[in-house]
Amino acid sequence: MAQLPKVILKKGKEQSIRRYHPWIFSGAINTVEGELTEGDLVEVYDAYENFLAVGHCQVGSIAVRILAFDPCEVNYEFWKEKIQKAYDLRKSLGFTTSETTNAYRLVHAEGDSLPGLIIDFYNGTAVVQMHTVGMYLVQDHILEALKEIYGDQLIAVYNKSEGTLPYKADLETENAYVFGRNPEKVALENGLKFHVDWEKGQKTGFFVDQRDNRSLLQKYSKGKDVLNMFCYTGGFSFYAMRGEANMVHSVDSSERAIQLTNDNVELNFPGDKRHKAFAVDAFKYLNDIKDKYDLIVLDPPAFAKHQNVLKNALNGYRRLNAKAIEQIRPGGIIFTFSCSQVVSKDQFRTMVFSAAAKAGRQVRILHQMTQPADHPVNIFHPEGEYLKGLVIYVE
Ligand code: SAH
Repeated sequence: MAQLPKVILKKGKEQSIRRYHPWIFSGAINTVEGELTEGDLVEVYDAYENFLAVGHCQVGSIAVRILAFDPCEVNYEFWKEKIQKAYDLRKSLGFTTSETTNAYRLVHAEGDSLPGLIIDFYNGTAVVQMHTVGMYLVQDHILEALKEIYGDQLIAVYNKSEGTLPYKADLETENAYVFGRNPEKVALENGLKFHVDWEKGQKTGFFVDQRDNRSLLQKYSKGKDVLNMFCYTGGFSFYAMRGEANMVHSVDSSERAIQLTNDNVELNFPGDKRHKAFAVDAFKYLNDIKDKYDLIVLDPPAFAKHQNVLKNALNGYRRLNAKAIEQIRPGGIIFTFSCSQVVSKDQFRTMVFSAAAKAGRQVRILHQMTQPADHPVNIFHPEGEYLKGLVIYVE
């Protein structure tokens, strides 16, 4: 095995890694032996020269992302085995053979012991998103592994990392197909159809992480007047319609999202007059909904991407939730979410508490929601539990 650069930690800083946390912060490092270039593989040692792990190094506060806690050779076989394990989990969850759902997350970064890598699978197309230089450097291995594992089931692989790789690394990568091409952009979720635009859409094209929560919404929709705020592709809207909602309004500030939503509703419920979509800012729309709705979904984008903007983000979430709680019909139900990794479950719940107090209404929690099983949380990396949601009942 080639000699890798060695990262030696300060005394006592090996604690978290002994508990299998997959990140090493730059402040924990004492010295580095050897030349380090961003994206390189490194070996990590404690202050007494005991081996701890192998990982990818990168510039920034997270200096090393751990790939393995045992000495090992990081070669094609290594990557293939990791991706195979991720695939086997999805297989055991029923995703790879399901006739009603063919959109799922194949690799969920730290949740699959592959920090820096996201892969979503949409009916034959794998959309790969690399967040670290280390993953970028092994993209050929990742592609080979996908081809070997899926065989004929893999029609195309689209690399969508232009916006997710650290821009300072200057990798000049462009979003593009790296294998095949798939003009078929309709996938299935619980039997409902939707267009996925991995080329121009947000993230990998669709938010598969709300699948279970959308199913839950369907159960509450019968006869209801529903508002789906921050609708993006309209996921919650078409589930509400299948759940026999009386009327569904979808709102998003992006014209493109409204178009996608209308297309998706049309795909499932052609000509259905119960649905209307509006391209308008959420805060503006919520100013004056009065008691028009009895079921509201609030699924905003991550207001906080970093710890230093957390306070402002929580204020934003609070204002949004207070507006909905104030105006919803008596006996109304709100599905409220935060997908910000830096907002903890407790902070999220406290925020909804303050919003309810501000609105001056009695609120009870009916369900606590999170991400689905194809977005597993590594028990040693609680930060991976990014999606938080509550179903609340407003008296
Ligand atoms: N609920 C969606 C995902 C929402 S993603 C789903 O189930 O797939 C967040 C969406 O919020 C994006 O489509 C974005 O265009 C929209 N958005 C961001 N800021 C907004 C604002 N101020 N008002 C309305 N929509 C906004």
